[in-house]
Amino acid sequence: MSWNSWAFGGSAAGDGTASGSPYGQGAVRVLPHGRGRSVAVIGVGYVGLPTAATLAHLGHRVTCGDADPAKVAMLVKGQVPIVEDHLEELVREGQASGRLRFVVGATEAVEGAEFVFLCVPTPQGDDGSADLSYVEAVAAEIGPHLQPGTIIVNKSTVPVGSTLVVERVLGRHDVTVVSNPEFLREGTAVPDSLHPERIVVGADDQAAAAQVGELFAGTHAPLLITDAATAETIKYAANAFLATKLSFVNAVAGLCEAVGADVRDVILGLGYDRRIGFEYLRPGPGWGGSCLPKDTRALVHIAEQAGYDFSFLRGAIATNDEQFIRVVDKVRAAVGDKLEGTVIAVWGLTFKAGTDDLRNSPAVEVVRRLVEGGAVVRAFDPTVTVPPGQESVAVDGLPGTAGGDPDGVRAYPDVYTACEGAAVAVVLTEWDEFRWLDFTRVRVGMARPVVVDARNLLDPAQLRRIGFEYTGIGRR
Ligand code: NAD
Repeated sequence: MSWNSWAFGGSAAGDGTASGSPYGQGAVRVLPHGRGRSVAVIGVGYVGLPTAATLAHLGHRVTCGDADPAKVAMLVKGQVPIVEDHLEELVREGQASGRLRFVVGATEAVEGAEFVFLCVPTPQGDDGSADLSYVEAVAAEIGPHLQPGTIIVNKSTVPVGSTLVVERVLGRHDVTVVSNPEFLREGTAVPDSLHPERIVVGADDQAAAAQVGELFAGTHAPLLITDAATAETIKYAANAFLATKLSFVNAVAGLCEAVGADVRDVILGLGYDRRIGFEYLRPGPGWGGSCLPKDTRALVHIAEQAGYDFSFLRGAIATNDEQFIRVVDKVRAAVGDKLEGTVIAVWGLTFKAGTDDLRNSPAVEVVRRLVEGGAVVRAFDPTVTVPPGQESVAVDGLPGTAGGDPDGVRAYPDVYTACEGAAVAVVLTEWDEFRWLDFTRVRVGMARPVVVDARNLLDPAQLRRIGFEYTGIGRR
């Protein structure tokens, strides 16, 4: 099925109907031409761009402002600077309809806007708290340029009370600030945006919140209107729950290894229970990405500030730190306890499959620890391009790449090249293509046929048949 057939159901011409989602979550309804609202989206990254393209798809007139001129230049040409399935088609459709445009900076973008979405980063501060400096900088920049009655929609993940902070920095009594946390997942950002499971809008001004909810009416998602503090808490609680679920299954995998059980069957036995379900119950090298690590730490900090000791969540974070150690220990054991000078092939660098995002990637965390132990890491990831004629590239954000260190981690154009001379191959991201390799060719190039599969992605029986030693997570 093509992207077009499920996103539009063949009727995106603005007649108000569309159908055919394979996700079974109902049709996306597109506003009749001319009924759209005027929207600005500030920050067109992993959240802002799918949000903007979705709003344009729903029939609104969207102007995106970003501080990065190179990113804007690409987008103006219809090129999407991140890896995200179907996003380029959705962006190009918005541009072709005349409802989606890109400008440099926030000031021009907010001109005449009825709604302004803030989608800028909220990284982790030194003390674990969320750093609001990007949000505050945008609020200070746009404050003088907003038309009276504008609704500011905070989509960035921000601590409880940030709506008030934005109001204060804007310095305007004739505009309203509402919270609209985002729940999309990288890798499925387009379907998640077109078919959200819920829309949460929090504000003291419930009429303004309802107007924001109406912007997404075409998605038919359930709308939950709350006060601002509750909406902000929902986002952090959701991420804390997901992180806890992942830590739980990693701990169960550890238990399986101790008692001789197979975690994959344990998960089947758990998941068929609808109270538990299958989602987020896959053991791995530890959780990471741009959200879970910073949001869980921020929530611990928020709780501390409010006088609540969230020891339960601190436990989930500690379990995750242990998981990185457990994976590195498995690699260490696989190479006879000698990392120093050992060549290790790493399969996958991104924090999950389907994205090019390396931020807080567990793969990068494991690579960092292997390099600290003296290993020579040769990596492959399908989102890292090695230019023709070049043997390998340094990847920004990997250990040893700062300052062009020639001994830093290098990425190679394919798995086979990355595996040359390696004493062990370590699967760190669940890219599907790894399941379909010519494993005999992989084995021939390696110094020793050993695989540590930190995603339980591969078939141990198949690998053992062709002579590999195989170690997974919680399985035999
Ligand atoms: P990102 O880094 O991918 O994108 C942020 C964009 O904001 C960048 O393009 C940057 O150039 C731009 N920007 C920064 N300062 C600016 C300014 N002053 N004016 C204009 N543009 C500016 O970040 P992201 O992953 O999209 O995350 C944004 C927010 O959404 C964060 O609070 C994050 O926690 C939250 N969130 C992220 C995800 C996710 O999966 N990435 C999911 C839900 C929520």
